[in-house]
Amino acid sequence: MPQIPIIEPDAVGLAAAYRAVADGLLVGLPTETVYGLAADARNPEAVARVFAVKNRPKFNPLIAHVRSTADAHREGQFDERAEALARALWPGPLTLVLPVSESGSVCELARAGLDTIALRVPAHRISRDLLAACDRPLAAPSANPSGRLSPTAAADVAAELESDDVAMILDGGPSKHGIESTIVASLPGQPLRLLRAGAIGRARIEAVAGAKLANPEDRAIAAPGQIASHYAPAAKVRLNASTAAENEVLLGFGPDAPAGAPNLSPGGDTTEAAANLFRVLRELDALGPDTIAVMPIPESGLGEAINDRLRRAAAPRGD
Ligand code: AMP
Ligand code: MG
Repeated sequence: MPQIPIIEPDAVGLAAAYRAVADGLLVGLPTETVYGLAADARNPEAVARVFAVKNRPKFNPLIAHVRSTADAHREGQFDERAEALARALWPGPLTLVLPVSESGSVCELARAGLDTIALRVPAHRISRDLLAACDRPLAAPSANPSGRLSPTAAADVAAELESDDVAMILDGGPSKHGIESTIVASLPGQPLRLLRAGAIGRARIEAVAGAKLANPEDRAIAAPGQIASHYAPAAKVRLNASTAAENEVLLGFGPDAPAGAPNLSPGGDTTEAAANLFRVLRELDALGPDTIAVMPIPESGLGEAINDRLRRAAAPRGD
């Protein structure tokens, strides 16, 4: 496979990158932290390609990059603490995890089905130019295969990633920080929480917030109802089904599924199935079945991540 082209981020390059994003393809994007693999955060097919290219075994939630705090307000619900942090530290390497807004446009796959969203307004000129050209949130996790080092130069991205789905890498020179953004959660009824240490130090954030940051491991002591839970359908989930019993609806996969049954991918493509997963689960759940019976999905490609999610949905519930 030919190497992914590295291109100049001039007007021509940015127009090409915009076209790629609008077509659901991926673009290697310099930010002030590390290079990201950017996709239209509204488009589940594009987001599924991010997981596939990175070879992620789970659907981790992705950070949605937006152009301005005003755009961020459309996606997440800001409390006063979040407003203060955004005012002081955006644009910059701070990611805020907030309750998702009803007006939010970021697809469920990018949020991994959570009712919260991670938002950042990057400072890098090229990130900002692409966000302005695209006029939509961009999901952009680090542009490395899962488990490898984050790339801090365009050549690192080209050396590590191999996929026709990555249209180009915009060359922004070496990354300024070279480590990821600091992630802080501001959720109702909870203290401000540091979810990931990163390019902005804890002391700086605590100074702006006027409060100490809680740690991720303190999470266990929060009241269960306050913990942002992964989306699980109200219906029970049964895996490796071949047919649906009474009170069940069948969720098909591949060409062997009964004609007319909802099918995550009639052609058996796990990237297509990932793009459909949350939407189809929600639609089936709305029918009010006792159980959603899911046909077997292979572990290849995004199958591992899909099965991880379905296994968790099928696990005994805490209630
Ligand atoms: P990145 O790979 O740079 O896009 O960062 C993704 C990381 O952000 C995830 O692995 C999570 O640790 C964190 N993250 C994103 N969204 C959320 C969320 N809604 N709640 C908690 N953490 C999140
Ligand atoms: Mg990463």
